[in-house]
Amino acid sequence: MKEKTALSLITPSNIPTLGNYLGALRNWKQMAEDNRCFFGASDLHAITVRQDPKDLRRNTAEIFAVLLALELDKGGNTVFVQSHVPQHAQLAWALNCFTQFGEASRMTQFKDKSASHADNINVGLFSYPVLMAADIVLYDADYVPIGEDQKQHLELARNIVDRINGIYGDVLKVPEPWFGKTGKRIMSLLEPTKKMSKSDPNPKAYISLMDEPNVILKKMKSAVTDMNGRVFYGEDNHGVKNLMDIYSCCTGLAYDDIEKEFEGKGYGDFKAKVAEAVIEELRPLKERYDKLINEKAYLEECMKKGAGEASAAAEKTYRRVMEKVGFYQL
Ligand code: ATP
Ligand code: MG
Repeated sequence: MKEKTALSLITPSNIPTLGNYLGALRNWKQMAEDNRCFFGASDLHAITVRQDPKDLRRNTAEIFAVLLALELDKGGNTVFVQSHVPQHAQLAWALNCFTQFGEASRMTQFKDKSASHADNINVGLFSYPVLMAADIVLYDADYVPIGEDQKQHLELARNIVDRINGIYGDVLKVPEPWFGKTGKRIMSLLEPTKKMSKSDPNPKAYISLMDEPNVILKKMKSAVTDMNGRVFYGEDNHGVKNLMDIYSCCTGLAYDDIEKEFEGKGYGDFKAKVAEAVIEELRPLKERYDKLINEKAYLEECMKKGAGEASAAAEKTYRRVMEKVGFYQL
């Protein structure tokens, strides 16, 4: 039996991007081999931003299919949809009551997101990190893989756990961050000083994992590069550096080798080769995905199975907390 438990969720705001894949999803496969893992589509998190119901349903099914295409349900692991496990929202309520307004106010992602969604600064957006804490502790997770953007949220989760354990004894497990081998931060193709995001309003800024090869090539060709025309890894060479990171992640080549390969060549050749490497890297995943997304009955069967497994694990923790807090148990 695997000794440690890990959890990771991805928000179904859109099909994951190449950034999500190289920075997170690809590493999850490694994590899935060594740990008992729960992977999920966090649709509850998605509605902190206004969603069209049809889009949310479709995105949830698509992300779920991506997780299956990555074969993250293999090896005794679980893939599920967050809203199919009601304990997430239930435990989040209890954790809300153990979170200080002041500490939640310090979350920089809340400040950023409220700036970019000024017309809808809802309470859910504010307490999103508390729901994230509930997601983690429900499964007694030892590890959570996190990018830079989630560090502060994990710290908050640990503080909430410490507070609850301080009052009631050891009720919840304190989660640790899990760092993958590579985990590069991939930047937007159009604004390479900004990270690539699946919720970017302009699809040319990102490569979607399910983009057709000709679309990948086209987007790469229109990626912003630099004025100097050389392929080299320089501090201010943001666009080229980003493409080199992508190329290096897909081929395993070091920056030196890449610089040599493209010495005396233009950006046109370079971009075509990067596109080709990305297409090859994503091909097996896309083939499995294309098959799965058209098998609705099978997808739903997998969702039910995942929900059953996740609920069974989550219910134990939820009961434990409710009992300690003093809720009348029947
Ligand atoms: P959104 O715009 O909806 O927030 P996102 O692209 O930022 O989408 P998330 O669902 O927030 O994706 O994050 C999923 C995982 O992907 C997280 O582990 C996050 O750290 C990682 N990640 C997100 N963007 C990148 C990126 N550009 N490069 C590397 N990793 C990334
Ligand atoms: Mg994000």
